[in-house]
Amino acid sequence: MKPQTKNRIDKLLDSAKLKRTEPRRVILDALFRADKPQTADEIVAAIGRSCPNKVTVYRTLESMIGAGLVHKAFIAARTWHFEMADRCTESQCHPHFVCTDCGQMSCLPGASVPMATKTPDGFIVYRQQVRLEGLCPGCGGRAKDTACRE
Ligand SMILES: [Zn+2]
Ligand SMILES: [Zn+2]
Repeated sequence: MKPQTKNRIDKLLDSAKLKRTEPRRVILDALFRADKPQTADEIVAAIGRSCPNKVTVYRTLESMIGAGLVHKAFIAARTWHFEMADRCTESQCHPHFVCTDCGQMSCLPGASVPMATKTPDGFIVYRQQVRLEGLCPGCGGRAKDTACRE
């Protein structure tokens, strides 16, 4: 782990009032390095030989979810995918996109969706998570554009 990465991770742990433990450090490092949400298995694979066992990975993820450092991004193929919460606000996560053709999930941190309004009485909204569906660039979006220009 690069010293500046370790620094950044330790600052995050401090700000979340979590102890700086090695499992937390290596899991956060794996999530930072990934360009998309990761399953627990992917995290274990990314950490490699210094990996704490899978039970520890799950328990550590739960503690960091509880502290708001990590979010459960979405569930795909019955498996939760986890990501850093740093691209979300307290009330709203960035939208996720699922391709209806290839099934690939993508983070769309730049896309903004207005917060839901007019929720019925008696419902307390903690956080808004939005899922968009359509075609990813590989399955049509970009390919169609090119076809039009020809
Ligand atoms: Zn696709
Ligand atoms: Zn995401």
